[in-house]
Amino acid sequence: MSVKCPTIIAGPCAVESMEQMRTIVPFLLSMKIQYIRAGAFKPRTSPDDFQGLGMEGLSILEAVRREYSVKIVSEIVDIRHLERMCQCVDILQVGARNMDNYELLKELGRSRVHVLLKRHMSATIAEFEKAAQYILQEGNPNLILCERGIRTFENATRNTLDLSCCALMKRRLDLPIIVDISHSLGRKDIAAPMAKAALAAGADGLMIEVHQQPSIALSDAAQQMDFIEFEDFLQNIRAAGAMG
Ligand code: PEP
Ligand code: MN
Repeated sequence: MSVKCPTIIAGPCAVESMEQMRTIVPFLLSMKIQYIRAGAFKPRTSPDDFQGLGMEGLSILEAVRREYSVKIVSEIVDIRHLERMCQCVDILQVGARNMDNYELLKELGRSRVHVLLKRHMSATIAEFEKAAQYILQEGNPNLILCERGIRTFENATRNTLDLSCCALMKRRLDLPIIVDISHSLGRKDIAAPMAKAALAAGADGLMIEVHQQPSIALSDAAQQMDFIEFEDFLQNIRAAGAMG
């Protein structure tokens, strides 16, 4: 295994303001969470939806990282942002929609940055493996995989969490894999049992969205946990011995 995989990556869907991050990050630190997720660039289905703060969001993440000495995980959508993102972010996320952006993958493969590669919502496990190979074969071993649910006919959840991906990827590649509970489910009421199932299936870590006030979040309001929900969630999975 080339990179140390964070056990829990938590934080808001998107960076919304410095004030927001100054509320969320101290709370997460009090829960012993060191890896903070937050998107500055948000690839949204509709161009009318909030697209993220972009470069301003990166500056906020840079300040947060300096102020709290946390690790930042944030999505890269354009290879032209690579240099600037490396100044602000510890793990570059390739979102589901860019899993098959092969030029982006090759360029990340030529660097030595830590990459979190998400499975496309319509990618088979074999296609996901090939996408990972694009990065590995260019010489970058610093790769973490992420299962985030796939599209099926089921609509009770936002996507269908495919736990066989965790078990099978462990056989195919010697890489850590985490499960993004929030984007898989699109809801939070069944987050704890699904997180326990993910860990039982071999996931090395989890990603969860946490927002100071989900009802007014600028993106993914339905799936982001508030502080009380996140604390309950952590207690639940830690009490089950599912995680240290
Ligand atoms: C995200 O994690 O912010 C995100 C957009 O997820 P995905 O790429 O899995 O849809
Ligand atoms: Mn989100």
